[in-house]
Amino acid sequence: MTATEQIVPFLPCHASDIEIRQAVRQLMLDFPLDYWNSCEEGKRFPEEFFKAFSAAGWLGMIIPEAYGGGGGTLQQQAAVLQEVAGAGGALDACTAVHTPMLWLPTLLKFGTPAQKEQYLPRVPSGELYVTFGVTEPDAGTDTTHIATRAVPTDSGWRITGQKIWNSGALRGNKIMLLARTTPRSEKSRGLGMSLFLLDLDDPRIRISPIPKFTRNAVASCEVFLDDVEVASDRLIGEPDRGFYHLLASLNGERLLLASEAIGIGRWAVQVSSQYGRDRVVFDRPIGMNQAIQHPIARAYVELMAASELVQTAIRSYESEQTGPSIGGLVNAAKVAATNAAFAAANAAMQTFGGYSFAREYGIARVWSEARLQQIAPVSNELALSQIAEKLLRLPRSY
Ligand SMILES: Cc1cc2nc3c(=O)[nH]c(=O)nc-3n(C[C@H](O)[C@H](O)[C@H](O)COP(=O)(O)OP(=O)(O)OC[C@H]3O[C@@H](n4cnc5c(N)ncnc54)[C@H](O)[C@@H]3O)c2cc1C
Repeated sequence: MTATEQIVPFLPCHASDIEIRQAVRQLMLDFPLDYWNSCEEGKRFPEEFFKAFSAAGWLGMIIPEAYGGGGGTLQQQAAVLQEVAGAGGALDACTAVHTPMLWLPTLLKFGTPAQKEQYLPRVPSGELYVTFGVTEPDAGTDTTHIATRAVPTDSGWRITGQKIWNSGALRGNKIMLLARTTPRSEKSRGLGMSLFLLDLDDPRIRISPIPKFTRNAVASCEVFLDDVEVASDRLIGEPDRGFYHLLASLNGERLLLASEAIGIGRWAVQVSSQYGRDRVVFDRPIGMNQAIQHPIARAYVELMAASELVQTAIRSYESEQTGPSIGGLVNAAKVAATNAAFAAANAAMQTFGGYSFAREYGIARVWSEARLQQIAPVSNELALSQIAEKLLRLPRSY
């Protein structure tokens, strides 16, 4: 399939993004399905793709031009990642490149001028690869229960604790980490946590990859911190307000992942439609059967609707809308997009029948990555609970 053939009038997107989308589709032709299947099977970081993506300028696209970036928007970034996912790269590809971009909104909003000067120019080339350290063994969905602690010292902070599921820790060189700096209070659960930027090669940090079921091109790791000393300039933003600073990145992360989900679903619909036309059983293409057609068509409809919602949520986010309603809208986009993507991937599993289990087609890989998106970075249950509370004013349930 050529880059032009892939450009079908498929899902709602901004006309202004078409050029960017075409450029990404062109780049992705060098990274066909075999490439992603082999990264997954070999548990191998896609270095070649990462270099090509960075050389094309996409890695630093939302960094202001003054710091050597592309000065682009989240909408454009979401379009780029959707095309990466939609070319069959799915999460194996997207996670490799979105990880070092996710912390940027927090740094841009809350970093000091010196921190921005020091870190931002090193992102577009891939030299600086920052991972996200929030989740802990006893604090996943409920972040406020993190036990990693940072205590002040004469020259900075001493940090001790453990993070889990840190994606990219084997490849990255820094971790943006959330630690408790003041004991948790039931009255203000989000207060008392701070954000730090740590070097992953610190001798007091130990990294251990978690053997996992899917998305193996990027390892997710346990990270153990044993009295790690950092200077005071490694604190990002105000002490005790790190959780709130993180939200600048988390809403953006959800929107980017929602956009990736649309790409994943689009790929699944596309390959299912093709296979439905080509595969002949009982002397006719299987796509003639409504039992095959309807799940694909239904997923396509859901993806079209979700895509509109993702665009709306991105517009609101970019117009600096704040308050509970933006969180609700972002979560709605995330839930709609990931559910639609999983429905599409599930339809692909059934359409390909036994061949969905043959690695060569990549169906089961994409299906399991679509399933992952319903759980991480935020589970769809928690997203719904937040919508219920903030948008529908139901009693808080979490
Ligand atoms: C492959 C992978 C990569 C990841 N990468 C990172 C990373 O780079 N950095 C990072 O910090 N984290 C990362 N995570 C962690 C991820 O964000 C968490 O797994 C996720 O937030 C869910 O947390 P948990 O697994 O601890 O689930 P738990 O909090 O244990 O919850 C288990 C289940 O119970 C449900 N549940 C819990 N409470 C409620 C409630 N009140 N109402 C309804 N349902 C509820 C949840 O929705 C979930 O389905 C990653 C996870 C995976 C699997």
